[in-house]
Amino acid sequence: MENQCTTLLHSAFIVTQDAQRRIIEDGGIAVKQGRIAAIGAWQEMRHWQAQEVLELGNMLIMPGLINAHTHATMTFLRGFADDLPLMEWLTGHIFPVEARLKPEVVRVASLLGFAEMLRTGTTACVDMYLFESAVLQAAVQAGIRCQGGEGLFAFPSAACPHWQQGLEQTRALAEKYKGNERISVAVTPHSVYTTNDALLIAARDMAAELDLPLHIHLAETTEETAQSLSQHGLRPIAYAESLGLLSPRTIAAHLVDSTEEEHSLLAQRGVTAVHNPSSNMKLASGIAPLPQMLAHAMPLALGSDGPTSNNRMNMFTEMHHAALLHKGHSGNAAALPAQSVLDMATHGGARALQQHPLLGMLAVDAPADLIALDLNEPNMQPLYSPVSHLVYAATGMEVRLSMVAGEVLYRDGLFSRFDYPALLQEVAAVRHWVLKKQA
Ligand SMILES: [Zn+2]
Repeated sequence: MENQCTTLLHSAFIVTQDAQRRIIEDGGIAVKQGRIAAIGAWQEMRHWQAQEVLELGNMLIMPGLINAHTHATMTFLRGFADDLPLMEWLTGHIFPVEARLKPEVVRVASLLGFAEMLRTGTTACVDMYLFESAVLQAAVQAGIRCQGGEGLFAFPSAACPHWQQGLEQTRALAEKYKGNERISVAVTPHSVYTTNDALLIAARDMAAELDLPLHIHLAETTEETAQSLSQHGLRPIAYAESLGLLSPRTIAAHLVDSTEEEHSLLAQRGVTAVHNPSSNMKLASGIAPLPQMLAHAMPLALGSDGPTSNNRMNMFTEMHHAALLHKGHSGNAAALPAQSVLDMATHGGARALQQHPLLGMLAVDAPADLIALDLNEPNMQPLYSPVSHLVYAATGMEVRLSMVAGEVLYRDGLFSRFDYPALLQEVAAVRHWVLKKQA
């Protein structure tokens, strides 16, 4: 039957993020086989016959947010080492614990990360870490949409004695998840300062051969620039360009120490830039020149980075920080307006994810990846502009429902795919393991 669907949602507002940025008051969405079959005013939607009707009342439905740069596993070191600059934090505190890492810790910590994401309205993420097969195992369990990649380093990691094995694992993961609706794989050299020419060239070639995204940390700090200049005689972005790393498949996280000339090059190459405002502030890495990047029409996305350098994985926090940081820094209250920030967290994230062209918006045929926020919360009242509230007022704790491909994964405090109290016990065991190893 034409007007039969699996789920029919009804709410006070729908922020579609479609091409016209339509906002529908008293709207409905019909979901069929994981996709949006119809969307519109409730009076046009009420004739749909559904197996399940979700009467959400005074809620706002919007596309699920997309975290375009994260390391979900790093929940296990949340609050373990704070108030340090990037290089000291990474080499003095994070790398030594990571050197002892094992897949079971990765699986538990990633599942905790995915719980945090679904709880705060993130339905998809772009991840890079060690033992990524265990991260993706947790993503499958949580039901979240995820692009993952095994972090490649020039030096041995806990997961791989040599980066060539990391590349072989990437190939195996790509094979395993080929055609998967929610899980995809990227080639992920960690950064230019932790790799070498041979590794980066091999990563570039594999991404091209298997048609995979290439996700890398790039131009994160002035220290990285100084190191690149002394080793290669080139700034990090120019060095990446010299190796042919910059293309539309490339996802470049941070770009804090970047120039206008480099923005123009990145825009020309079609690279997706991921801004990580909380991480850049916490590690004192600097302030990425976002208003200039916007002016160059670069594809821009938003990420939390790992929860050790944030310490949240909450895209409402990132939207809030991005919108405020660049106003304060530029002295221009019109810098990075709310709609641009929301576009970064939806459309930009979808571009980084490279899974489905209609992700990041609520439109016919788009995957039914959506969230619902409770507008009766005090910080959401009164309501004049839904987009303003999403960027400036919401915290993520208003989220009551998170859905991926038409499946409810979180609703009113309950995760549908896993036992959260049992996960908390596993997290406690991981904490014990970290502390015991430290002693
Ligand atoms: Zn990162």
